[in-house]
Amino acid sequence: MNILKSNLLLLLLLSPISCSILHSSADLADSYDFIIVGAGPGGSALSNRLFKNPSFSVLLIEAGGANNDSLTINVPLLCTKLTPNTQWDWNYTTTPQTHLNNRVLPFPRGIGLGGTSAVNCLVYTRGSKQNIDKWAELTNDSSWGWESMLPYFKKSEKFNFPVDKHNITNQFNPLFHGFDGYIGVSVPGASRSIDSRIINTTQLLPSQFPFTVDMNTGDQLGVGWVQALIDKGVRSSSVAYLSPSVLARPNLDVLLHTQVSRVLPSSSGNTFTTVEFSNHNNSLQTLTASKELVLSAGSIGTPSILLHSGIGNATTLSSLGIPPLLNLPSVGQNLTDHIGVSTTYLVNSTHTYDTVLRNTSLSTHLLHQWLTTKTGINVDTSENHLAFLRLPSNSPVLRSFGDPAAGNETAHFEFLFQNGLSQFTPSGNYLNIPIGNVSPKSSGSVTINSTNPFSSPLINPNLLSSPVDIHILRHAILTSREFIHSPAWSQYILQDLTNASSVSELDEFIRANAVSFFHPVSTASMSPYGVTEWGVVDPDLRVKGAKGLRIVDASVVPSLPAAHTSAAVYAIAEHAADIIKSAYHTK
Ligand SMILES: Cc1cc2nc3c(=O)[nH]c(=O)nc-3n(C[C@H](O)[C@H](O)[C@H](O)COP(=O)(O)OP(=O)(O)OC[C@H]3O[C@@H](n4cnc5c(N)ncnc54)[C@H](O)[C@@H]3O)c2cc1C
Repeated sequence: MNILKSNLLLLLLLSPISCSILHSSADLADSYDFIIVGAGPGGSALSNRLFKNPSFSVLLIEAGGANNDSLTINVPLLCTKLTPNTQWDWNYTTTPQTHLNNRVLPFPRGIGLGGTSAVNCLVYTRGSKQNIDKWAELTNDSSWGWESMLPYFKKSEKFNFPVDKHNITNQFNPLFHGFDGYIGVSVPGASRSIDSRIINTTQLLPSQFPFTVDMNTGDQLGVGWVQALIDKGVRSSSVAYLSPSVLARPNLDVLLHTQVSRVLPSSSGNTFTTVEFSNHNNSLQTLTASKELVLSAGSIGTPSILLHSGIGNATTLSSLGIPPLLNLPSVGQNLTDHIGVSTTYLVNSTHTYDTVLRNTSLSTHLLHQWLTTKTGINVDTSENHLAFLRLPSNSPVLRSFGDPAAGNETAHFEFLFQNGLSQFTPSGNYLNIPIGNVSPKSSGSVTINSTNPFSSPLINPNLLSSPVDIHILRHAILTSREFIHSPAWSQYILQDLTNASSVSELDEFIRANAVSFFHPVSTASMSPYGVTEWGVVDPDLRVKGAKGLRIVDASVVPSLPAAHTSAAVYAIAEHAADIIKSAYHTK
């Protein structure tokens, strides 16, 4: 079977062909109880949970198309091909980053069903218990702490056993996982030649690099098997919440190719249940929810819509010529993101992904294996192992700057161990270790400089603006070298291709090469009830000062966990569904 035929077969198998996927606004019902904007983890999960109440009618609006027939999206190992500069990406870039030699960085965000979960790199991590407890502290609401949120993490999850059926005792802790949710989570389903070296390193250097059975128990520190958003060898995005059987239900419609421009107030002033949108770039239309409007357009989309609607810093909006309707200066502020940089080694092996990329018939064979049996290396994401680690407690960095992490059991940095590069190289075989600062102190903003709601916002994550962040990255690079200098790697590493040793060389390497790790949050953050000085939504996710308008996506996260962020957004959406249902006295 050639790849074209295989693609067609896949399309037939995966397409959610259903009457409730609408392409034209002409097919909309006259009214909906809830209108939800954005089909990423926040919007898809919330739509699913709300429509389950048969008395609610729900419309989910998404700027992009269906996406789910794409082989590149569905094959886990192809995740690095999905962004930047593709049809699945909004293709945003940052403003010049002052602390990164003024470089303008790609800032990918997914467009289409699944949102960014359809283009992300599939790593499933929740952060530490301390990270989530900090949400409760910042919101002054214990329902956002670890004990209350753990059931929501589990509720969203459908843990599934790896496709190679290997014994996974000691690779995850079943007590902390859900098996009946929607989002597929699995440990790797194909071994890689570096796996044993990584595990051996944890045995040879256990105090520095302890092995952890499961980094999603709230106790995240250590080196362990990656858990990834994969269901039986296939990417599991938030589309899992919108399966054909879900879409067959009469009380949920999904309108595609429709970009929301603004939320509009009612004549009485502070009720914002009307959405303004353009379907297929046609002229603007409006629709009013009979109960609530929910923004789930993500950390960039949601503040952009709010600002264009006149919800934000009143002074700034006025100077732009946008009439301010609600003065909420925190809209678009506090953008916090992880920053990372890759270190690469030339290795003494041909058993790396580089060999596959260089051999067309081998690549085709492996893709065919995935298509026909869902086995082989394509069933997994880019790495089989992760490490979440801290600076030593006596580190001068912590003494000088204080500890930016949520607590002493929360990681400062992570390593992702990749058996080769993800792009073609003409020769050589490689070990690649992307290294992320997962407890950054820097923060930036999303702002607008135009009254056109369809123009791109200005995205400034302001990476490395807080001096402690580069110290952590520098320390992390040095620590990664200690990892691969363990005897477990003897005879394997031929050359360290990161040509930097001194503090100034390492800093220059970081400033010249570091990028966003794509986890922006907090641009419409939660803050306690009654607090007006900061925050955009209250702990019930209602926009402060407004009626009928909530936000359910990564923008409400009060502080960035030391984790890849989609697990948190699924859990937030599950919690939000219960909050909304209880507001209407339903289950
Ligand atoms: C390259 C990359 C790799 C990543 N890797 C990982 C990973 O390995 N693991 C992990 O957990 N997380 C990862 N993430 C982050 C993760 O995917 C996001 O945290 C998560 O998807 C955020 O969910 P959300 O619902 O807040 O927003 P999104 O997923 O961004 O969804 C927002 C949706 O709203 C739509 N939208 C936006 N504006 C409008 C509008 N005006 N009108 C209508 N629709 C609109 C968008 O098209 C999109 O579908 C990665 C992100 C990127 C970019």
